[in-house]
Amino acid sequence: MAYSPNSPEARDIAYHLHSYTDARRHEETGSVVLEKGDGVFVEDIHGNRYIEAMAGLWSVALGFSEKRLADAAARQMAKLPFAHTFSYKSNGPVIDLAEKLISLAPVPMSKVFFTNSGSEANDTILKLLWYRSNSMGQPQRKKIISRVRGYHGVTIASASLTGLPNNHRSFDLPIANVLHTGSPHHWKDANPGESEEDFATRRAEELEAMILAEGPETIMAFIGEPVMGAGGVVVPPATYWEKIQAVLAKYDILLIADEVICGFGRTGNMFGSQTYDMRPDIMTMSKQLSSSYLPISAFMINEKVYGPIADESHRIGVLGHGFTAGGHPVASAVALENLKIIEERDLVANAREMGERLRGRFHALEGHPLVGEVRGVGLIAAVELVTNKEAKTALEAPGALGGKVAAALQARGVIVRNMLDAIAFCPPLIIKAEEVDMIADRFEAVLNDVA
Ligand code: PLP
Repeated sequence: MAYSPNSPEARDIAYHLHSYTDARRHEETGSVVLEKGDGVFVEDIHGNRYIEAMAGLWSVALGFSEKRLADAAARQMAKLPFAHTFSYKSNGPVIDLAEKLISLAPVPMSKVFFTNSGSEANDTILKLLWYRSNSMGQPQRKKIISRVRGYHGVTIASASLTGLPNNHRSFDLPIANVLHTGSPHHWKDANPGESEEDFATRRAEELEAMILAEGPETIMAFIGEPVMGAGGVVVPPATYWEKIQAVLAKYDILLIADEVICGFGRTGNMFGSQTYDMRPDIMTMSKQLSSSYLPISAFMINEKVYGPIADESHRIGVLGHGFTAGGHPVASAVALENLKIIEERDLVANAREMGERLRGRFHALEGHPLVGEVRGVGLIAAVELVTNKEAKTALEAPGALGGKVAAALQARGVIVRNMLDAIAFCPPLIIKAEEVDMIADRFEAVLNDVA
C-alpha cells in the first residue's frame, strides 16, 4: 500500500522495527496507527473506531480513558518522579504496593520483587532460583519444567520457558536446563474417547516420568499459566492442576504460577490460582497490575523461596541483581490506584458476569460449520475455527482461516487476536453488556460471511 511520504504510516515503515510482525510484509502494508481511546474503544488516526476486544495485549483492565490513573501518575511525577530500589533505598508507592500485593495473595507470600515486564520477571525468577539452589548446597538442582504452548516472555531465559516454536526458531533457543512437558489442551491433545480427568492423569504421569528420567534432585521448579493465554487460551481440563501439584509436592518441586494474564480478575477471581485451587510458591504479575498504563511487573515469593536467597545475598554481601526502573514510584502509584479501582468497582464480579454472557453467545454458535471449540473462563475466551469438525482441522494452511476472520473483524471495528485458527477475546474488565453483545454480533456476522 502506498502512503504519502510524510504520513505516520510511511514514517512507521521507515523507522520502526515492530514486535511480532513480518518485517518485509510491514514494509508493504504498514500498521494501524492508533491515536486515542475511550472506555473499551480505540480510534486510529483516520477516525476509525474499534472495540478493543483484546484489551491491548490482555492487559488494559480499566479501558483506555481512566482519568484517575492519569492523575495518579501526574501527582507522583510532580512529587518524586524517580527513585530506585538498589542499595538500601526505597520509596513510598513501592512499599504500599508490595504490602497490597502480599495482602491480596491467595496463599501466604513473603516478599515482592519488582521488574518492568513479564519477561523480565520470569527471567529474574529463573536466575534467583539458580542462586537459591546454590545457596542450599544443591548446585545440581537447576532445571525448570515448562509446557508446550506455554507463554512466559521473550528474553533469553523467558523465551526458553515459552513453549511456542516461533519464539525458539532461529534464536538458538531454548537454553539448557529448560524442559517442556505436554500442553493441557484436552480438545486438541486428548486421545479419542479420553475424558478430561483421564487426560489430566496422563499429563501428570508424563510429568512424573520426565522428573524421574531427569533425576528429581535436578529439578527446581515447574512454571505454568493457570489458563494459557498466548498459546491459544487453553483452559486446564478438570483435575489437571490438582494432579500436577500432587506430582510436584511428591518431589519437592516449586510451583510458579505465571499470573501475567490471569492476575487481577481475568478468570473471575483476583488470581487464576484461586480459580484452579493452585498453591504456588511464586507468582508472576504484570499487565492488569497497572492496566498497562505504565510498564510494571512483579513476582511474589514465599518464605521457603526467600530464605535461601536472603542467606546467599548475606554470604556474598549483595544480591547482585536489579533493574534501574524496578520499583519505579510512578508506575507503583498507578498500579496502586488501578488495584483500588478494580476493588471499588468490583470488576472481578463484572468479569465473571460479562464473561458468562460472552461465552454464552459463543456457545450458541457451536452448531456453526466453522466453530470447532468454544473455551474460556471469567472474561477470557477463544473460539477455535475449523473447516473439518471431525478432524478438528482447518483445511487451509494453519492460521489462514483465523487470520481471515481476525482481519474481517477488524474491518468491522473489532480488534481480536488470532493464534493460528483460535480467535482470542479478552476485553477490558470494565466492559458493559451492550459492548459484549456488539463483539458477539459482529463475530457471528463475520463467521456467516466467511462460511
Ligand atoms: N507471561 C505471560 C503469561 C504472558 O502472557 C506474557 C505476555 O504476554 C509474558 C509473561 C511476558 O510479558 P511481557 O510481554 O511484558 O514481557
